Amino acid sequence: MDGCVFCKIVKGEISTEFEWDDDKIVAFNDIEPIAPVHILIIPKKHIESLGKTKKEDVELLGNIQRIASELAEKKGIKKAFKVITASGKEAGQTVFHLHYHLIGGWKNKAPEMEIDKSKEADK
Ligand code: 5GP
Ligand code: ZN
Repeated sequence: MDGCVFCKIVKGEISTEFEWDDDKIVAFNDIEPIAPVHILIIPKKHIESLGKTKKEDVELLGNIQRIASELAEKKGIKKAFKVITASGKEAGQTVFHLHYHLIGGWKNKAPEMEIDKSKEADK
């Protein structure tokens, strides 16, 4: 999709080192990591968000989760990691091309989930 930063990454218009690259999915490091390991896993096809997925996307969504687990293994964080996606602006989504954050590598415990903080702010 024109103007979409992740479509540009998929097309190679923004030079990016891929942690994963198959016919339907790519993964690469987040430009502003919030954890020692912070990888974005995205479908090559432009889907706006999880909320816009259809029944036909089930296999793709399942594969993204399997790849998250494989990348967690590759990065040595299999023991503890999180996979998060924000769907919609109010949920904190800033890039409107479906992506899953794979985060981990904390020394002790992961910080509280952001979703808890936003609940607090909305009281
Ligand atoms: P969201 O806020 O939509 O859940 O996540 C978007 C993520 O994309 C953010 O964590 C942000 O740092 C990352 N990001 C935005 N632009 C780029 C980019 O050009 N390259 C990479 N590698 N990550 C990006
Ligand atoms: Zn896109």
